[in-house]
Amino acid sequence: MSAASPTDETTVQGIAASPGIAYGQAFLYLQSDVEVPNYQVDAAKRLEEVGRFERGLLTTRQQIAKIQAEVAKNLGPEEALIFDAHLLVLEDQALIAETIREFESTHLNIETCFNKVSQRYVQAFSEIDDEYLRERAGDIRDVAQRVLQNLLGQAENSLSRLVDQRIVVANDISPSDSASIDRSAALAIVTDSGSRTSHAVIVARSMKVPAVVGVRDLTTRLKANDWVLVDGYDGLVILNPSESTLFRYGKIQAAKKSLESRLLEANREPAITLDGEKVAIMANIEKVDEIRLVQDYSAEGVGLFRTEYLYLNSARMPSEGEQFVAYKTVAEALAPHPVVIRTLDLGGDKPMASNPALFPKESNPFMGFRAIRFCLENPGIFKDQLRAILLASAFGNVKLMYPMISGREELARANAVLAECKAELRAKGQAFDEHMAVGAMIEIPSAAVTADVLAQDCDFFSVGTNDLIQYLLAIDRVNDRIAHLYEPAHPAVIRTLKQIVDEARKQKISVSVCGEMAADPVFVPLLLGLGVDCLSMTPPQIPAVKYAIRSMAMGDARRLAAEALRMTSPKAILAMCEDFYRSRTNADPEAG
Ligand code: PEP
Ligand code: MG
Repeated sequence: MSAASPTDETTVQGIAASPGIAYGQAFLYLQSDVEVPNYQVDAAKRLEEVGRFERGLLTTRQQIAKIQAEVAKNLGPEEALIFDAHLLVLEDQALIAETIREFESTHLNIETCFNKVSQRYVQAFSEIDDEYLRERAGDIRDVAQRVLQNLLGQAENSLSRLVDQRIVVANDISPSDSASIDRSAALAIVTDSGSRTSHAVIVARSMKVPAVVGVRDLTTRLKANDWVLVDGYDGLVILNPSESTLFRYGKIQAAKKSLESRLLEANREPAITLDGEKVAIMANIEKVDEIRLVQDYSAEGVGLFRTEYLYLNSARMPSEGEQFVAYKTVAEALAPHPVVIRTLDLGGDKPMASNPALFPKESNPFMGFRAIRFCLENPGIFKDQLRAILLASAFGNVKLMYPMISGREELARANAVLAECKAELRAKGQAFDEHMAVGAMIEIPSAAVTADVLAQDCDFFSVGTNDLIQYLLAIDRVNDRIAHLYEPAHPAVIRTLKQIVDEARKQKISVSVCGEMAADPVFVPLLLGLGVDCLSMTPPQIPAVKYAIRSMAMGDARRLAAEALRMTSPKAILAMCEDFYRSRTNADPEAG
């Protein structure tokens, strides 16, 4: 294995998608659209043409079910869920009926008709202003290509030819492509397109190989077998790396490996500071199948169940019964640990695109018809969810919280609807936990300012720093242009957190933080020093946070917070938190 001369080296920046470093030769995979012939079908053959379409759909369904079973076996049930979306496309009556209507009016071959209709769907989905739904366009495209391949009798794609240890460099990798990858042969995955939530990323993470996505036109600049180094920590792809780059990366890899093994070791131990204070570490989840992750990372329950994902994924509102099954499954699996179920936070960056009548386009969605505002205007939908949560409370340690509470009256209105639901269940003799704790998310400045009154009506607070920072600093959390101004270490944020904690203390209620700030080990000492009792985060962040907690003394964290409260510069506060973190853990703040 020889390295190139320094002059050949080129570095390309992409999006870090799965951690790790890999070095090897490129295996180029270019996904291209199937070429579709276009011809008229004779009157005598038209019935047979529709039959051919139905057989093509059936074969595709069978193939996808087979891939799904393989993925479930190799990667686990969560990854296999990707294919449910594909099977749904194949069962979409509107898509099938439109194709047949197109055929009946044009009498063009069924491939042409299906291609035209599915492209219309892809176009419609890719224009939706929601990342999750936009990515469903990819599902439709992937399935449509597979149907066309089957109708035209074409063979499987070339990814199945990957046998040697190679770095897969592709323009895109669809879920069915990923199923063709031999897991022992892929050293890393790099794609031109994609975001952090694309399927290639999910697959790379579950294969535990490094991945970088969004490298734009890399496949056009690279030849098969070129030497490539992939840095999945910083999202870099280095073509023809020099000896000195390889040497540098060898050292980085050794340091990362040692940090990772220290983190995993710390994860087996409880989250206790050096001076003996215990901190509750909980998980943020979005789907029922994340229960396994919560358990694998030893979280002490769920601090935030973002229930809107049950809705976003479906074309209609899930029924009370469907929701009950989901909540009960999580509550039972994790009992006696608590599961904090947050009522619907649809709207904002999460409109339900399949239901545009309920979510008309708004010019300022984050300040618009969102979360509890939507629920109070749609009592039928709200009550279905509240009853489902209440019924699940009979099966575990369930707590309920409302998102986007802005003040006492709104909280009272939500609680009045909850009281109605309780009365209905009592009248029907249905069991629920009469003492189920009810809390509010504190994520709107008006709630933070009136935390003293809200604390009188709540059993707990959970601070949503993602929104709280957005609203306090007037920084749209999804706008890249102002992302550098989104500063968790801003004195306004720290003073507000302090006020929330102080008011909660006076009423003897607990405070957790479930925004991303809780998942950043650099800010963990500050939050705990301010008096936060519990931190909730996506499970893979838990080892790094626990390691930070086990490396610090709470007394020092309190002094850090007191000093931060005296300071005025966000940059200086951040630097102080980074120094504190570095001095306790010997880790690079960027590596956590
Ligand atoms: C938050 O705002 O910090 C939060 C946890 O909720 P979401 O990110 O779902 O708005
Ligand atoms: Mg929020």
